[in-house]
Amino acid sequence: MTAETPIRTRFAPSPTGLLHIGGARTALFNYLFARHHGGSFLLRIEDTDRARSTPEATEVILKGLDWLGLNPDEPPVYQSAREARHAEVARQLLEQGRAYRCFATKAELDQMRAEAIAAGRPPRYDGRWRDRDPGEAPPGVKPSIRLRAPQEGVTEVEDLVQGTVRVANAELDDMIILRSDGTPTYLHAVVVDDHDMGITHVIRGDDHLTNTFRQVQIYNAMGWEKPRFAHIPLIHGADGAKLSKRHGAVSVLEFEREGFLPEALCNYLLRLGWGHGDAEILSREQAIELFDLGGVGRAASRMDYAKLTHLNGVWLRQADDTRLARDVLRRLAEEPGLVIDDTVEARVSLLMPALKERAKTLVELAASAGFLARPQPLTFDTKAQLLLTPEARTMLASLAPRLEATDFSVAGIDAALRAFAEETSRKLGQVAQPLRAALTGTTTSPPIDATLAALGRTESLARIRAVTTG
Ligand code: GLU
Repeated sequence: MTAETPIRTRFAPSPTGLLHIGGARTALFNYLFARHHGGSFLLRIEDTDRARSTPEATEVILKGLDWLGLNPDEPPVYQSAREARHAEVARQLLEQGRAYRCFATKAELDQMRAEAIAAGRPPRYDGRWRDRDPGEAPPGVKPSIRLRAPQEGVTEVEDLVQGTVRVANAELDDMIILRSDGTPTYLHAVVVDDHDMGITHVIRGDDHLTNTFRQVQIYNAMGWEKPRFAHIPLIHGADGAKLSKRHGAVSVLEFEREGFLPEALCNYLLRLGWGHGDAEILSREQAIELFDLGGVGRAASRMDYAKLTHLNGVWLRQADDTRLARDVLRRLAEEPGLVIDDTVEARVSLLMPALKERAKTLVELAASAGFLARPQPLTFDTKAQLLLTPEARTMLASLAPRLEATDFSVAGIDAALRAFAEETSRKLGQVAQPLRAALTGTTTSPPIDATLAALGRTESLARIRAVTTG
């Protein structure tokens, strides 16, 4: 790699499960690293495990990346489509004497394994076909191809996060690169693909660290230039245990359903395991500018929903009102019985600046906007019912004409409410709270003047009338 080699990173998920937050963070780091260096971010779908890979899982991964704004710069590479190339490289290694055919039968391998385990040794292939003449091959056994791995010395990796890591070559056996049925093994396929895709930096979870030694041996055998490796620590649950469904090892799209903004989730995942001083709130642009692998910590990080929710609130308040209104209306439209028409849309848009001040998620935001869409008769929660005493209803009846006489602007409503409170020797809250109950069916809403203005004259007065008559 020369100084001018453009940086190319890749995210290489296996479509055997969901795109969960661990994968999302790996994708994000690859994306940010590439962007920071003006390079390219690629995607490879590692679908060689035909039995476990599904098109649905691939779809969910692509959708999840799209939602997070982490689309690759080139069309995705499907590993399964490259099997012929993987086999070609295996044959090349064979021709160069860097690999050999192994005719050991399954029974032999099973026995080798059982004996090693019984003797307390790690189960390793004993190299029985390494130097044997293939002419001695038993009839009918289809050979696999094994890498002729170095038996002495060490394999060393300068990891950009973990530092120097090494393993004694005596610890590693001659791994299979092409199975007897002609299919490539996963470790081999990854090396061939990364090489062919021109990947300069492999950034992935540290659960792949031990694979790296074997992959490095393949690079060395082919005489290929190795990429730089960066193994990032995994994300654990809040209790320190490996992330499971219970902790949110769910599809990132689940976070969308739960009302998180992609920029908030990305900001959270970035800060989880990477730091730049005290900076907490980082936009995509800032992250691209600042991201470096030196800032990635070595310890596993813990998923903290409270922190994510807090960050989401911060991003929500900064988000564009039109975008938020669109999302809220989409969520409300899914609620049975709610009709979203132009009037409702106008109300939600009008009140959005006030609504977003008090919500931490889009789900909360939609819930707080629900009263703007609900048809009459409203249902009243217990607290609202308690506020709507006979006295309160009488008060609202005398307040109604005063409101009707205003221009229904926020300022006009505010002035009318204040004048009414003063004239009737009430505190503003004593007027506003029953009014809020009548208008929303609840006891919380944005400021009452803005709430009235958003509902509009006709609807506000109709809702007041509904509690003051009959
Ligand atoms: N396909 C692997 C996984 O989903 C990633 C392999 C790699 O990044 O090299 O865990």
